[in-house]
Amino acid sequence: MKFFVTSRGDDTSNALQKKIVTYLQEFGLEHNEEEPDIVITVGGDGTLLHAFHHYHNRLNETAFVGIHTGHLGFYADWKPEEVEKLVIHIAKTPFQVVEYPLLEVIVRHLDRPNPERYLALNECTVKTTEGSLVCQMDIKGDMFETFRGDGLCISTPSGSTAYNKALGGAILHPSLASMQVSEMASINNRVYRTVGSPLVLPQHHTCLLTPMNDVALQITIDHVSEVNRRIKSIQCRVAEEQIRFARFRPFPFWKRVKESFIGE
Ligand code: NAP
Ligand code: MN
Repeated sequence: MKFFVTSRGDDTSNALQKKIVTYLQEFGLEHNEEEPDIVITVGGDGTLLHAFHHYHNRLNETAFVGIHTGHLGFYADWKPEEVEKLVIHIAKTPFQVVEYPLLEVIVRHLDRPNPERYLALNECTVKTTEGSLVCQMDIKGDMFETFRGDGLCISTPSGSTAYNKALGGAILHPSLASMQVSEMASINNRVYRTVGSPLVLPQHHTCLLTPMNDVALQITIDHVSEVNRRIKSIQCRVAEEQIRFARFRPFPFWKRVKESFIGE
């Protein structure tokens, strides 16, 4: 089996990364950055987000597992003290795979012929760097509302505990192949009206955002951000692809939610 280990880059994570590489090589596994069967991330959820984007072209071949060197994470849910146990699992047992839904984002530009396609593990957000964002939102091909406000966040179920949660969105179990649209400070008065509640859309339902004012848009896909003025539309839906996590022991999602937000 081929493996690769990534690190957040701090001393603690780097030391643990080195240790894991040595252990797994001693067990006869091959360290391979190009074509790993398993990628072990050491750091936080952000470290796993980075690794996901690095290997987004081989999601069918690469499984992920995360170790947290800071607080408990949602993707990084193994403790540094458990590293020996995890290494033995990886070396000795065929791992189970758990798949989580992803978000497909297609950005069309006014001045470019070809659209860009992205995959998000957490979310896509659309904001503006000048004043308010005004955009039409179509759901499944039908005009739904004209949004005016700070921005919109479209998240995956596993991303629902990140930015989406800060916006008052619901926490969704990652077994639900869906996406959630939540608002950032919408303007609501007699002239402008939005639904005001987060929306959860199933597979095959598209959410199309068409900017109505000429402002520079900031589009984020997880930790990656781009500013562009010439955006025609942003289309989101549940992706065909999924991310695969290597599962060596049960750690139910709701237990992670409790330990992260409520306490032991
Ligand atoms: P960051 O600014 O370091 O991340 C913000 C926090 O979100 C970190 O504590 C990170 O955990 C945590 N996080 C990431 N994915 C999560 C998930 N699925 N569930 C719960 N918490 C999660 O930037 P980053 O590490 O590159 O992560 C990018 C993410 O930050 C974005 O995808 C977005 O979800 C989130 N974000 C949140 C807000 C907000 O809540 N107001 C604003 C902007 C961005 P680690 O420390 O373990 O990395
Ligand atoms: Mn981070």
